[in-house]
Amino acid sequence: MSVATSKFTAEFRCTHEGCGATYPLGEIIYTCKKDGELLEVSHDMEKLSSRSGADWKELFDARIGSYRFPFNSGIWSKREWVLPEIETQNIVSSGEGNTHLYDTGRFAKELGLDGLFVKQCGVSHTGSFKDLGMTVLVSQVNQMIADGKDIKAVACASTGDTSAALASYAAKAGIPSVIFLPANKVSAAQLIQPVSNGSLVLALDTDFDGCMNIVKQVTEKQGIYLANSMNSLRIEGQKTIAIEIVQQLGWEVPDWIVIPGGNLGNVSALGKGFEMMFDLGLIDRLPRICLAQAKNASPLYDAFLRDYSDFKPVTANKTLASAIQIGDPVSVKKAIKILKKFNGVVEIASEAELSDAAHRADRYGLYNCPHTGVALAATFKLIEAGTIRKKDKVVVISTAHGLKFTEFKVQYHNSQIPETDSRYINKIVECDANISKVLEILDKRL
Ligand SMILES: *Cc1c(COP(=O)(O)O)cnc(C)c1O
Repeated sequence: MSVATSKFTAEFRCTHEGCGATYPLGEIIYTCKKDGELLEVSHDMEKLSSRSGADWKELFDARIGSYRFPFNSGIWSKREWVLPEIETQNIVSSGEGNTHLYDTGRFAKELGLDGLFVKQCGVSHTGSFKDLGMTVLVSQVNQMIADGKDIKAVACASTGDTSAALASYAAKAGIPSVIFLPANKVSAAQLIQPVSNGSLVLALDTDFDGCMNIVKQVTEKQGIYLANSMNSLRIEGQKTIAIEIVQQLGWEVPDWIVIPGGNLGNVSALGKGFEMMFDLGLIDRLPRICLAQAKNASPLYDAFLRDYSDFKPVTANKTLASAIQIGDPVSVKKAIKILKKFNGVVEIASEAELSDAAHRADRYGLYNCPHTGVALAATFKLIEAGTIRKKDKVVVISTAHGLKFTEFKVQYHNSQIPETDSRYINKIVECDANISKVLEILDKRL
């Protein structure tokens, strides 16, 4: 099934209500020139609604399972909603998206839920959902370079996963990349990814917020393009998570989505995906959203308790969920808007809670990273509080692959994380290579 993509258009628009400033997607710009607010990619919804909701669903369903570029990507199979005007030859894709919606089956039953699904966004080329947004951003940069724009390099600050994604997609496209990481605050796997892809990697003696401050200044200079999620191109790719989830549930909207948040681009993207599906008639209701934060880095939770009345950035404390160790989230205004619209809540998880939740769910076949642990812990707390009701259908967003966080999982099973629940710790049994000793243990354990 083919659709003439050229008739659809999109542009940057200021997110500040009442401003209305717009800019072409080919312009190097991250915030509004008039009021400094973040931009969003704004689609011509009138043109998109020339197709019915049913027609869009049919089109998206028809592209699932395609082996052919670019529809073999879960992002570009929705290209009319993402970057409608990009030329196909400039798309930089590594087959991102189309991730599994893991049905926890017996675990959901034990929790009394109608369903508990884990959207495996981290099962992706570089092992985190950051690939979903980065394919869009790097593709647009590739298009701009092809159009003659002077871009020497792309750059980002990162808590680990953004840099891995940027490094890979930039290397694929042959665009130099510069990475700013907080020294000693990312996992070994995360650190070595951009090193392997040939990025210029700078480890700064600060935290993520400090790196963000530096990269903003660097990218004000000519020729270095900012790849953090304050660049709203990223949001366009990440929003397809919402579409995939609904599509995987047979175009049914779950009651709840629980998502871990740091810089708060991801929850904004999730909301935007649902808004577009709602506005274009693919769905007729919205889910509730829970934004889950590590207790050690939870400025939005503090604001939520005050009805979002006065958000205050904090200095984030160390957390095992290192990718969300962020105290001054760039997309906080977008996130609050989405949470209000989606009857949302914010929940927190302590270090012990996030560790136990990740490893409790591992017992059902998952292999959870600490951020997914934060979302799972929030889910359990909301069930306990009765906010998530029995019989609800819940989707937890898993943001990274557990294999990127081996240290976390080893520490847990070695009882090195304080105050965790010993029920989920699984000790390796040391045993002589002797059959009677082995049988003795099997007798005792099985
Ligand atoms: C980036 C990231 C998040 C948070 O996403 P934001 O858009 O910054 O809120 C959560 N988990 C992991 C693993 C991440 O890499």
